[in-house]
Amino acid sequence: MHFLLPGVIAYLFFRKNWKKVWIIFILTMLIDVDHLLATPIFDSNRCSINNHPLHSYYAIFIYVLLLIIPKTRIIAIGLLFHIVTDALDCLWI
Ligand SMILES: [Zn+2]
Repeated sequence: MHFLLPGVIAYLFFRKNWKKVWIIFILTMLIDVDHLLATPIFDSNRCSINNHPLHSYYAIFIYVLLLIIPKTRIIAIGLLFHIVTDALDCLWI
């Protein structure tokens, strides 16, 4: 889910340079490093949204701002996509 779906989305919407877009999408998974600041590091029963600094509403607001700037738009899409998949995980709990 976290790796294949971004690739499909990159291919559908950015066919010209979908490999580059896919890599950017994968790199946005790095915001999960903020999970390392939490204890325990992995807890499947915990929703990451608003529980980690890079998954807070404040951070999401910044990602939306990045969406407006053309140069950072693809990164912003990847970050917001990451937030959406994490939010979907929360729904399963
Ligand atoms: Zn996350």
